[in-house]
Amino acid sequence: MNLNTSLESIKGVGPKTAEQLNRAGLFTVGDLIYFLPRAHEDFTAAGSIADAVPGKVTIRAKCESISTRAVRRGMKVTTAVFGDETGKMRAVWFNQPYRAAQLANPDEEFLISGQYEFKFNQYQITNPTVQKASDIKIESDQILPIYRAVKGLKTTVVRKILNELKTVIQFLPESLPSDVVDAAGVLPRGEALYKMHFPESPQDVLDAKNRLAFEEIFQLLLASRLNKQENTKLESWQISFDKDIVGGFVKNLPFELTSGQRVVAWEILQDFEKPTPMNRLLQGDVGSGKTVVAGIGFVQAARAGFQSAFMAPTEILAIQHAESLEKLLKPFGVSVGVLTGSVKSQARKNILNATENGDVDVLIGTHALIQDPVRFKKLGFVVIDEQHRFGVKQRQKLLEKSEKMPHLLAMTATPIPRSLALTVYGELDVSVIAEKPAERLPIISKIWSPISRDELYEKIDGEIASGRQAYVICSLIDESSKMEAKSVEAEFKRLKNSIFGHRRIGLLHGKMSAEEKDTVMQKFYNHEIDILVSTTVVEVGVNVPNATVMLIEDADRFGLSQLHQLRGRVGRGKWQSYCYFMMSDTKKPSRRLKELENSNDGFYLAEVDLEMRGPGEIYGRAQHGALNLQVATLADTKMISKASKIADNFVQSGENLLQYKELSEVVNKYQRLTTLN
Ligand code: ADP
Ligand code: MG
Repeated sequence: MNLNTSLESIKGVGPKTAEQLNRAGLFTVGDLIYFLPRAHEDFTAAGSIADAVPGKVTIRAKCESISTRAVRRGMKVTTAVFGDETGKMRAVWFNQPYRAAQLANPDEEFLISGQYEFKFNQYQITNPTVQKASDIKIESDQILPIYRAVKGLKTTVVRKILNELKTVIQFLPESLPSDVVDAAGVLPRGEALYKMHFPESPQDVLDAKNRLAFEEIFQLLLASRLNKQENTKLESWQISFDKDIVGGFVKNLPFELTSGQRVVAWEILQDFEKPTPMNRLLQGDVGSGKTVVAGIGFVQAARAGFQSAFMAPTEILAIQHAESLEKLLKPFGVSVGVLTGSVKSQARKNILNATENGDVDVLIGTHALIQDPVRFKKLGFVVIDEQHRFGVKQRQKLLEKSEKMPHLLAMTATPIPRSLALTVYGELDVSVIAEKPAERLPIISKIWSPISRDELYEKIDGEIASGRQAYVICSLIDESSKMEAKSVEAEFKRLKNSIFGHRRIGLLHGKMSAEEKDTVMQKFYNHEIDILVSTTVVEVGVNVPNATVMLIEDADRFGLSQLHQLRGRVGRGKWQSYCYFMMSDTKKPSRRLKELENSNDGFYLAEVDLEMRGPGEIYGRAQHGALNLQVATLADTKMISKASKIADNFVQSGENLLQYKELSEVVNKYQRLTTLN
């Protein structure tokens, strides 16, 4: 019997059980062994009702009565009374009406485990787990694993079959190199999995998880190290650094570069000279001035005879980049072209031709750049702005438009916590612009209650009176939305017809055509509009330095990093800027808003976001799912830095990964997946 043996060949697994297991996605012995418990219940601590004190408790009792009622739409409350010889305990579940059937037999004894607390004027145990006491007699297990009930698969069934596999699990061969296991100081695989399924103490569970988490992180890190190594085998164009060209460009800028910008520009120009492709991630908070750094690369590449492509996630942004870069690049004889979805017919043909015959030095655009008809003469440098908005495939498609692998610069304003930079983004070299241009004042942020809305409008009007501009951000497009969030159109009309009747107000949202959007943005940029009422389409990259106030309606409905990105639209000029987070009600503000009120530091906020939501939420569920992390969390920085060193040592040792079949299979799969945006 090995990991690939089908479950049917296990003693006691008949066709019916096999079918149940298959439905839950479990086909082989390996599937089942790696079907890890979602939790463990410590029934050794089961006590009597009279002894229960608030906190986590487990009791052994019978169910005396149980009933369910609907309290409001979509919410069902099930209440039960448990009793033993010492007393009675009330239990409450939310939206778990099936408990009534589970607990129907008044003579059956159950183990009930959960939070015992004082709530609604009485003591109760809330949302407890329940096990039949008779189910728990499998051998002498005391700490009981609880398995996910996938498609009705019962924990008892899983446990029974695993019991048959005890010896197999114990003697499972090691999947990691032995020096890696030693260096990590973790349990051997078989022992870890055994302790996961058959723990004798809470410590067993911790040790087991520690080993399994280490293995997952190690695989991920190894994949990114190997990808990085492979990148060095690729061939790119060598673009040599011309001090006069770059120096001239920098001298001609309307500002001094910050030292962060200088360092990054230097790193890029160094990478250009190498025969291997640059593969660099540039992180810089909103407003740190990433675009001009790319501009330095463009001028160098163009003057050395190479074309560049600059891809942005929205049309507004692409056009804005094109306008600002053209001003900077033209004096140096570098030509700029724009290609977006709304460049059509003859204009489109012209730009495609000019790109193919090399007349365009820098092609700036949206996703339109990756389409088939776009061909370059000699593409040397690719820049992706706001790279988390693009998928791996899109980036790849752009890179393929060159004979040799072009140099890649991926830019992001969403700071990536260190733990993720090492794992998910591990194959990239990372550059950071930590500071903002010196003249910038930190944005003053305030959470605002709708009760004092008028007071806030006065403040905004004051800013406009002194020559500044404002954003009002709303979350949804039309009024029919169930969320009652302020609709952008309605808000636009309301402001126009009342408080700000004397101001010039513009409207911007995603349902407008690209031309309409562009016209409005251009007007705002030219200060022909005082207040721009907009949805989150302005979130990414838009740059109007004269705008100094932002009011975000229903701020509590947005995510932390999105709010930070939005806020970054102000604070881009030399004036003091303000961001007001308007609550949708008068409740207490969330931690998210409080953190934003207190900090402008994108890196700090990204760590908070990671801690609060977990990487799956932030970096896309699907991708995180594909990583298949069952035990590890990417927020575990300690584990990650430990595993990182061990992975480095392994790669440097030159040991052949193929000796470790299982490990190399997983690592190979990850290699194809990493750099998951
Ligand atoms: P982001 O990093 O968010 O993409 P941008 O590249 O859009 O930032 O730059 C924001 C603004 O700051 C632009 O108006 C740009 O011209 C300006 N800027 C960039 N670098 C500097 C600098 N060193 N000093 C002053 N202003 C700068
Ligand atoms: Mg930008």
